[in-house]
Amino acid sequence: MGSQEVSSTVDWQGKHVTVAGLGVSGIPAARALHERGALVTVVNDGDDERARAQAAELEALGITVRLGDGATLPPSTELVVTAPGWQPDKPLFLAAAEAGVPVWGDVELAWRLRGDDGREPAPWLAVTGTNGKTTTVRMLASILEAAGLRTAAVGNIGVSLLDAVLGEREYDVLAVELSSYQLHWAPSLRAHSAAVLNLAPDHLDWHGSMAAYAADKGRVYEGNTVACVYNAADPATEDLVREADVEEGCRAIGFTLGAPGPSQLGVVDGILVDRAFVANRQKQAQELAEVTDVDPPAPHNIANALAAAALARAFGVEPAAVRDGLRAFRPDAHRIEHVADIDEVRYVDDSKATNTHATEASLAAYDSIVWIAGGLAKGATFDDLVTGAAKRLRGVVLIGADRALIREALTRHAPEVPVVDLDRTDTGAMSEAVARAAELARPGDTVLLAPACASMDMFTNYNKRGEAFADAVRARADESA
Ligand code: ADP
Repeated sequence: MGSQEVSSTVDWQGKHVTVAGLGVSGIPAARALHERGALVTVVNDGDDERARAQAAELEALGITVRLGDGATLPPSTELVVTAPGWQPDKPLFLAAAEAGVPVWGDVELAWRLRGDDGREPAPWLAVTGTNGKTTTVRMLASILEAAGLRTAAVGNIGVSLLDAVLGEREYDVLAVELSSYQLHWAPSLRAHSAAVLNLAPDHLDWHGSMAAYAADKGRVYEGNTVACVYNAADPATEDLVREADVEEGCRAIGFTLGAPGPSQLGVVDGILVDRAFVANRQKQAQELAEVTDVDPPAPHNIANALAAAALARAFGVEPAAVRDGLRAFRPDAHRIEHVADIDEVRYVDDSKATNTHATEASLAAYDSIVWIAGGLAKGATFDDLVTGAAKRLRGVVLIGADRALIREALTRHAPEVPVVDLDRTDTGAMSEAVARAAELARPGDTVLLAPACASMDMFTNYNKRGEAFADAVRARADESA
């Protein structure tokens, strides 16, 4: 692989490094660099009690910390290592650009530090996309484990990348989730193989435009050695493969919910099949698993499973391990999570559907739905979402600050669907939403919390929102038992 030159070439001794952001990625980065002899200064916008406690710990090690000013670049800085969420137009980065100082994110740092202790670094199988990253990476790790490989799901989930790269545990391969922010700051990352699951507008305020967002996602394909996995139903992902500069012999592999063409994975008669990693892809198709091996077997989740399978197959995993890994996989909480059945109505928590693209996927998974939606819209519009789902809506219960936007879309595109508009944001609001949804539902229906919005107007986060929903449903289940 021409992609392995790493930090053995970086001499950290005496190097002035500025770490931007005291946080989940900043603190371990500062420590790791300090341990390697770098002269580390951490800069942080906030100056609250928590930041001061964290600063004190780092200062005790000999690391300089500057609280309350994340904007000014310390004069002698030779490298900036930033928390991925920091917006690229911050003055700190403008100053770095002007001074010709490189900026690395947490992923770039992990990538550069891998192998610097002399161990053979594990290759990365990388996953990005607007929705489905966590699910796909966990499915992938489950498949790799089933194949007997030492692996972990890392990135935005579970183990941090830096820990995975520097920690004691040895890995054969890592299943890496990467956000568009992380990719933006990871110029030299070279994955073994990578997948972009889908591309829909998200975080455009951060990236500046859809083109810039797509370009950052597309970086995941740069320098891939074996496979660039794209979504055949989302041509934008295939365009990114075409634009990428990959290693000689690296293949473009599509996944599709339909019958696969050559060099694709897809579905035939309820079976996940591989026409990419077989001896004769013109004539041969390899059975991998059944649709019912995937939990839940909703269309978007089958797509996630196919993407995970493609990456595993690119790494040489046998078909039986794909099946076993998918069977062993259980989805995370609040992602199309089946909570209970009451009076022949199914209650499903997809609180993680915080944007319209994710909600579109979960609405597509059920035939007759009472939909609980609303919250903070983050600039989204709901016309397409409502138009696509209108026929399957038994009714809608709206909650949260921006619910009028969804109500107006319903009035325009689904005027016959009954809508309950809950004008309250207190803690009891979710149980009333569930009660009203139960009134609208008929046997065979699904009551689906898929808000298409962020939760922070009413809840601390989407977890709390999902828990409030599940609590309310379970309370009803207990009553009716
Ligand atoms: P991410 O890590 O990208 O946020 P998750 O796996 O946590 O993705 O899923 C987030 C939300 O997106 C879930 O609510 C789920 O319903 C939805 N989702 C998952 N996979 C897909 C997909 N392939 N396409 C569209 N939506 C999806």
